[in-house]
Amino acid sequence: MNFDLSEEHNMIRQTVRDFAEREIKPIAQELDEKEIFSPELTQQMGELGLFGMTLPEAYGGQGLDTLSYIIAVEEIARVDGSQAATLAAHNSLGIGPLYYYGTEEQKMKYLPQLCTGRALWSFGLTEPGAGSDSRGSRTTAVDEGDHWLINGSKIFITNGASEISMGCTVQAVSGTDSEGKKVFSTIIVEKDTPGFTRRSMHNKMMWRASDTSELFFDQVRVPKTNLLGEIGKGSKIMLSTLDAGRLSIAAMGLGAAQGAYELALAYAKERKQFGQPIGKFQAIAFKLADMALKIELARNLLYKACWLKDQGRPFAMEAAMSKLYCSEIAKEVADEAVQIHGGYGLMKDYAVERFYRDQRLLQIGEGTSEIQRLVISRYLGV
Ligand SMILES: Cc1cc2nc3c(=O)[nH]c(=O)nc-3n(C[C@H](O)[C@H](O)[C@H](O)COP(=O)(O)OP(=O)(O)OC[C@H]3O[C@@H](n4cnc5c(N)ncnc54)[C@H](O)[C@@H]3O)c2cc1C
Repeated sequence: MNFDLSEEHNMIRQTVRDFAEREIKPIAQELDEKEIFSPELTQQMGELGLFGMTLPEAYGGQGLDTLSYIIAVEEIARVDGSQAATLAAHNSLGIGPLYYYGTEEQKMKYLPQLCTGRALWSFGLTEPGAGSDSRGSRTTAVDEGDHWLINGSKIFITNGASEISMGCTVQAVSGTDSEGKKVFSTIIVEKDTPGFTRRSMHNKMMWRASDTSELFFDQVRVPKTNLLGEIGKGSKIMLSTLDAGRLSIAAMGLGAAQGAYELALAYAKERKQFGQPIGKFQAIAFKLADMALKIELARNLLYKACWLKDQGRPFAMEAAMSKLYCSEIAKEVADEAVQIHGGYGLMKDYAVERFYRDQRLLQIGEGTSEIQRLVISRYLGV
């Protein structure tokens, strides 16, 4: 076994870390406070090559492996959850299904611009009545000869309504099978299609500088060629997209934990009480030891899942385990990081306060912790 990262992986980490420290860190707090989505930062991430990292160059990508992408998400999340959310959702949920299931024509039409950071794409699965139970979707797509007629709505859609959001891949009920069960298809809907309206959701606790939106479809007509993948395979497309997406949510958890830990470690060395740095108290030192241990375990698990994917081997169970573990330890580490900061940790002037809020989505989005346990237990055959 070789646990060393390659020179290329180390270089990617350093490049993304430098970028995040230089461009994101100084403004993260203000963007969070004022709930500002930044097209400029998104474009800068694009210029750095962070969108479509794993795609072939022909589609505007970098042809890198999964681990390279995961390291990039981890490094952005180490500094700011909001920008990491924009990056991870666009890559895994926006670009992913178009690349894996699009026709050559669809790929050439959408992917090159989506790799620039000047345009975003979203993934519309969740509905007001269908969260964990995605088969509860009510949005319909009716085959009307030369076009699909779409009606319904989606909620909590990342990158759905920013000024640079170009469209959405929508899961819709497109009929029923011989047993009367719903059949789903995934359909591409571009932003200016008549009847398609979008609304950014505000007052979020976390990821306040990332766009989360509601999408509404009122008699929306799109050409039949906007079908993504095969008719009736929508559920499979969405669920396989989530398998890969879980790796990037895990990377966000790992990065958030790393960022919160580093803040706590620095604070423990600098803050003095009873005449010595608080890190000298065993109670604080042991907290830091536990945090470092959890991060180490999380990183090993996640990188192994990436390795499996890059080997072309099954990785869905390990992706669910990584998502579950990395997001849960992000919560524990951020909580202890606040504890180490004492009262200052509850003040917005201290970045650790933002880490404490931002990690909370990670146990909920792209399959809650309860659903990850369900997924893992199914792989165990129970
Ligand atoms: C900021 C943000 C961004 C998001 N981005 C996107 C996006 O880009 N695209 C998209 O499609 N969705 C997105 N989502 C939606 C997200 O994936 C859902 O919120 C999530 O899947 C949970 O669904 P729900 O909120 O409806 O909760 P529910 O499914 O109603 O769950 C509520 C509680 O019940 C539990 N529960 C439900 N079913 C079971 C079960 N069978 N066994 C045990 N416990 C269960 C859950 O674990 C949870 O604790 C986003 C959400 C947020 C908040």
